[in-house]
Amino acid sequence: MHKTEKMFVIHYAEVGLKGKNRVYFEKRLSRNIKLSLRGTGYLEVKRLHDRILVRLQSQTDVEEIEKRLRKVVGIAHFELVLCTKKNMTAIKDAAFTLTEGATFNSLKVETKRSDKSFPLTSPEISRDVGGYLIEKTGTRADMHKPERTFWIDISHQQAYLYTNKIKGVGGLPVSVSGKVLVMLSGGIDSPVAAWQMIKRGAKAVYIHFYSYPYTDKASLEKVIELTRILAESNYQSTIYLIPFSELQQVIVTKTPSPYRVLIYRRMMARIAEQVAATEEAEAVVTGESLAQVASQTLSNLRSIEAVVDIPILRPLIGFDKIDIIEIAEQIGTYDVSILPHQDCCSLFIPKHPATHATVGELDNVEKDLDIEALVEKAMIGIEKRIIDFA
Ligand code: ATP
Ligand code: MG
Repeated sequence: MHKTEKMFVIHYAEVGLKGKNRVYFEKRLSRNIKLSLRGTGYLEVKRLHDRILVRLQSQTDVEEIEKRLRKVVGIAHFELVLCTKKNMTAIKDAAFTLTEGATFNSLKVETKRSDKSFPLTSPEISRDVGGYLIEKTGTRADMHKPERTFWIDISHQQAYLYTNKIKGVGGLPVSVSGKVLVMLSGGIDSPVAAWQMIKRGAKAVYIHFYSYPYTDKASLEKVIELTRILAESNYQSTIYLIPFSELQQVIVTKTPSPYRVLIYRRMMARIAEQVAATEEAEAVVTGESLAQVASQTLSNLRSIEAVVDIPILRPLIGFDKIDIIEIAEQIGTYDVSILPHQDCCSLFIPKHPATHATVGELDNVEKDLDIEALVEKAMIGIEKRIIDFA
């Protein structure tokens, strides 16, 4: 019996990645994989030419590693392989080992050869190994609908064999695209918005406004838990908690009720812009989706963002609610998002908010407010917490 080793082989999407960019991407991905696998008892994460290996120890929890790799953004697909020497007897032995414990009536072998100096061509290897497996297992070959496929990768170093390709989440390794400040509310949408940005390689930092003691503490507990879940892909995460009730009281006494939600939003945007500056985040992200609610009409979105210079990104702008819910379920935030909580913005607001406020209208409504003082006051109560997934 030849010596074999079980390990994970990780592939990333290479489209458009060249030169220095690619090295940076790979280094970041391998660092992120290490962050993900903390505490699983893996042996080593190793960067090769076009893939990353995760070497295991005998006591490593393989299922847990698989579960965590499924959350690492930037992975296109990965597989649990049997790695062996590059000679045909060793490869056949390893292939046979992969048949153990599996029941199937037909098979196919598919070979990929990056080492062109290997004496056999890919079809020759497939045929040879296929013939051997058929003889040993009494199954038949089926090139179109095999019940089991054996993949063989002949790389420059070793041969890798596997029977199961696992799809990764895709996207780019978190942190390669800079940093964003996500306005996280405790609802369904904003965690999904955060996820969309994380998936494109942005490191998320969060800000949450709460109205305790006017509302209960549930929204705080929810955003902390949502931040933790998202940290499975975003890793160590910072969240800023901002007390909002005093500011809301001022707004209530000084502005007509149909405009209040919009004024709340403007104040949130202003405060977020300041926090983004201290964090060196390059954009603010919200979970808004076009016309989902009254405050999210085009004119309202415009009159809110008119008061800040920082770009406000809305990754869900063109999503239907049903699609947002589906993603929330996939990433594991949905069940937390639907727990009851009192939204700070539902405080002191009318049934019929303004649906098409212009910039000028809101500027006028704000004329009796000392904006700078209000922002400053909110910033005094700011609390910063660091949250990790485990
Ligand atoms: P969500 O499901 O994210 O709560 P929503 O459909 O309830 O969104 P709104 O309540 O209009 O929509 O909020 C729009 C966006 O404003 C949210 O997606 C979020 O990004 C931001 N936001 C709302 N309330 C808060 C809050 N208390 N703290 C931080 N951000 C908030
Ligand atoms: Mg909400």
